[in-house]
Amino acid sequence: NLEGKTALVTGSTSGIGLGLAESLARAGAQVLLNGFGDVATARSRVAAQGKQPGYHPADMSDVAQIEAMMAWAAREYGGVDILVNNAGIQHQAPVEHFPVEKWDAILAINLSAAFHTTRLALPEMRSRNWGRVINIASVHGLVGSREKSAYVAAKHGLLGLTKVTALETAQTGITCNALCPGWVLTPLVQQQIDKRIAEGATPRQARDALLAEKHPSGEFVTPEQLGELALFLCSDAAIQVRGAAWNMDGGWVAQ
Ligand code: NAD
Repeated sequence: NLEGKTALVTGSTSGIGLGLAESLARAGAQVLLNGFGDVATARSRVAAQGKQPGYHPADMSDVAQIEAMMAWAAREYGGVDILVNNAGIQHQAPVEHFPVEKWDAILAINLSAAFHTTRLALPEMRSRNWGRVINIASVHGLVGSREKSAYVAAKHGLLGLTKVTALETAQTGITCNALCPGWVLTPLVQQQIDKRIAEGATPRQARDALLAEKHPSGEFVTPEQLGELALFLCSDAAIQVRGAAWNMDGGWVAQ
């Protein structure tokens, strides 16, 4: 039961972040949303599960905006108890053709943003001796794939940050862990299916090929399933889960 806890989920207007926000709201948390696009739909989907969520439009590639969001959370909601670092983007190109500005944006949003939110959330968590930092990494935090240099580098880095944060809080009521999802059918992955369709595959072929390449299960992971895992990490039973990189990947990394 997360009644009385405030949960900030970055990048929660879509996909996995929105699913995690709904799960946390259902468990009773006061959810704070962040991200771009259809904010109204995200708000109403989360409100349908529990309390009316808060929303902050900070761009996770901008340190000053992240600082403003964390100050807002402290001022309006008394600080963040559950921090889910989820905002992320993808871009695919071979290393030698990788656009420099995309590299910088991916490192900023997928990695540095989690450093900034974490450093700003920890003092409040320490003062209450309770906190959960959940970093949404990826199987690409553990293994590589071609044409995803920035994403794979950022996700490997995020697992490093997870371990160090876990060690520095090891003797407190604060835990820090990472989830490593395989394929989840969100706009971020639809983009990669669309690329295959543009190259001549039918929608069905594109979907099946994507799964066949990586997921022995042949099925996508869902945001709801990730939400249940996040709720477990928030529970008292998970207090000794520290610095873990937890796969939910249809068997991808078992191969
Ligand atoms: P998505 O595109 O559906 O959602 C991304 C969210 O981040 C959106 O709410 C978007 O508005 C927000 N966002 C993007 N740039 C932002 C910025 N600069 N500032 C603030 N918010 C920003 O993607 P998703 O698939 O739900 O991905 C969420 C996370 O899960 C990412 O970190 C991604 O790397 C990770 N992940 C996804 C998959 C997958 O298969 N979809 C697998 C493993 C890991």
